[in-house]
Amino acid sequence: MIIGVTGGIASGKSTVARAFAALGVPWVDADDVAREIVEPGEPALAEIAAHFGANVIAADGRLDRRALRAIVFDDDAERHRLEAITHPRVRERLIAHLARLEAQSVPYVLLVSPLLFESGQAALVDRCLVIDVPESLQITRTAARDDVDESQARAIVAAQMPRQARLERADDVIDNAADEDALARQVAELDRRYRAVADLPPAP
Ligand code: ATP
Repeated sequence: MIIGVTGGIASGKSTVARAFAALGVPWVDADDVAREIVEPGEPALAEIAAHFGANVIAADGRLDRRALRAIVFDDDAERHRLEAITHPRVRERLIAHLARLEAQSVPYVLLVSPLLFESGQAALVDRCLVIDVPESLQITRTAARDDVDESQARAIVAAQMPRQARLERADDVIDNAADEDALARQVAELDRRYRAVADLPPAP
């Protein structure tokens, strides 16, 4: 069984993944895989360079994300072109990583993805778990963690899928507005339910 974990910026996806890992549940991070497929030597990087030009490749041969972002930021056609190069490869690699984990003796696995719904990755999972926090808390947690001020954090939140749209697609929801102990209790309860669905005994 594969559980997709998603939520907006600073909603607590990584924190949730670590809490599940403490119960013996491994995860694949879609952001890590998206970085993996554009490493030097990967065919996606060569295709990106061929389409977008040599100035999206830095002097060290790695992808210059800032230069690429500047091109696709305001241009839907170019963004779609980039996604056509990257999305199928991310999907293929995710399937391989998930299959490798599932082949081990684990109760179930997590696919942690900020774009679970937007990228079509929800089709790869059995259930979707949304980490929900009020937007005001997302903004303060982003500003506290990252090198951005509150107005920049607000703009990032506004550009993401609306909170309500995410909740409408959730099979399960974690409310991460309280402290990390409250989060861990919800993770433990979900883990009990997921193991029951997978017909496994509770975590030791
Ligand atoms: P992103 O997608 O932006 O990388 P994320 O959804 O993985 O973020 P985390 O990195 O897990 O979110 O959490 C964001 C920040 O909020 C971190 O600094 C984390 O320590 C903090 N945080 C998460 N959950 C809680 C909580 N329940 N109470 C207080 N702080 C929290």
